[in-house]
Amino acid sequence: MIAVAIDGPAGAGKSSIARAVAKKKGYIYVDTGALYRTIGLYCIRKGISYNDAESVLSEIKVELKYENGEQAMYLLGENVTSLIRTEEVSMAASAVSAVPAVRAFLLETQRDLARKNNVIMDGRDIATVVLPDAKVKIFLTASPECRAKRRVTQLAEKGIIEDYNKVLEEVNTRDYNDSHRAVAPLKPSEESVVIDTTEDSFEDSVEKILAVIEEKTGE
Ligand code: C5P
Repeated sequence: MIAVAIDGPAGAGKSSIARAVAKKKGYIYVDTGALYRTIGLYCIRKGISYNDAESVLSEIKVELKYENGEQAMYLLGENVTSLIRTEEVSMAASAVSAVPAVRAFLLETQRDLARKNNVIMDGRDIATVVLPDAKVKIFLTASPECRAKRRVTQLAEKGIIEDYNKVLEEVNTRDYNDSHRAVAPLKPSEESVVIDTTEDSFEDSVEKILAVIEEKTGE
């Protein structure tokens, strides 16, 4: 099995770029952030403090499925795929993801997908923790301003209007939280190829990643 780990901060374009690469290569695309988002959504609904997220793990069921080739998320049997895309859930996901028990809870789900499929897996700690033996490791990044701008555009396409400055502030907060937490902080692994997409078009980024995959796997 071939595993491509793509890590990097929020809004670097990981999901859309990785999805396109997966399609070209015939791999499945795994968006691991959606797992943390689903737990975040549950905490919001139950009014549970994010620091206490460990207490909900025994009562929830988080499933990642593929429907017509697209990833779908289920929380206790309910399809929450589109409900986990708000900024409120983004912040909740960032907070619950700092809880070690939450990370441990989601580890096997992620590893199991990579055992059974060729995957391109997008997250924060895929190369460092989840799939340390991945053949291809990429760290995808871009400037905070560029990422905030892309996020606003992306949300607008889904009919969600957010203020640029608010999104930029949230990008910076999430970057800080993600890279300063004690467990699995966001950082490139020693073997990761760092790709900065600030100046690149979407197609350029896809091509760059395809080239790295070819170089590392010969395919
Ligand atoms: O990728 P996405 O923005 O959907 O992730 C939401 C949050 O989940 C991130 O801010 C990060 O804190 C957390 N996350 C993580 N590890 C992953 C994927 C996401 O900690 N592998």
